Amino acid sequence: MTIDVDLLLSGNRRALAKAITLIESKRNIDREKSQELLKRILPHSGKSIRIGISGVPGVGKSTFIESFGLYLLSQGKKLAVLAVDPSSPIAGGSILGDKTRMEFLSREENAFIRPSPSEGALGGVALKTRETMLLCEAAGYDVILVETVGVGQSEYEVASMVDFFLVLMMPNAGDELQGIKKGIMELADALVINKCDGESINLAKRTRSQYKSALNLLHYTSFWTPQVLLASSTENKGIDKVWGMIVDYYFTAIKEHAFDQKRAKQNIEWMRRLMHEMLDLKLSQNPRVKDIIPELERQVTDGRTTPYAAAEQILSLL
Ligand code: GDP
Repeated sequence: MTIDVDLLLSGNRRALAKAITLIESKRNIDREKSQELLKRILPHSGKSIRIGISGVPGVGKSTFIESFGLYLLSQGKKLAVLAVDPSSPIAGGSILGDKTRMEFLSREENAFIRPSPSEGALGGVALKTRETMLLCEAAGYDVILVETVGVGQSEYEVASMVDFFLVLMMPNAGDELQGIKKGIMELADALVINKCDGESINLAKRTRSQYKSALNLLHYTSFWTPQVLLASSTENKGIDKVWGMIVDYYFTAIKEHAFDQKRAKQNIEWMRRLMHEMLDLKLSQNPRVKDIIPELERQVTDGRTTPYAAAEQILSLL
């Protein structure tokens, strides 16, 4: 598979889709080619604002993205919607970033929607999404939305690849506030209480003050205090305010020199993670290591050697 880089840089959707397919391929030869490609497009990437969107199933993520996305297009933006889905489609999980969930947005010329890669080798699906993000940036998309469900590890993955992490909430705090993981409060740059319409308006307002006090209890050292906003995705209310807040964050972060710093820190963390994963892979693929491990395991079991000495012996084979 060869990718026409100039075509990709000119914003050609087919070239972009092809490049993403290459990135997602598991074949070793494609992996080499995709690294080549990423190196070439890297100078053209990075000029977007990256926004993570999380929330429990049913909170209204796809409805929000549709409404928010159409608003962004009306502001002259080019938008890419990507996804990190921790549940594989084969296991019957939700397929995030599925175009049918964003019916109107998916018909727009300036919107590019890509579902979650079903699997990833090194770095998992999150790495694929991260690399896809770079390709979209090179193709001229200036807002990247990365969607994930609010379960498990995936929200950490997404928070570590975006500039701004937004968590959608239900209008009823009650149980949710009790059950809500403190972790997500710490990750969120903003909470958006969705479905603030009809009979839920007053409830949503009360929930908002509860979340605000909950957030105030957390200690912030950063230049940014997480906001709590109200929105109705079905009635397109509060959507402009969400964007206004993100723009505000962007300019404040730039002024405080925090924007590039955050991205640099994320890249270093990724480098470290990849380094460990590559090392693991090298170990598991090394025939001498494979040969010696059963014997060393026996020795450790029998107490003839220590785990430390055995591990050292394995590493010395690399
Ligand atoms: P997701 O699973 O988080 O992607 O949630 P969906 O976007 O599929 O929405 C789940 C349900 O909530 C659907 O029936 C939507 O129509 C509904 N919904 C989403 N946003 C709103 C909203 O702002 N107000 C109301 N009343 N319903 C909404």
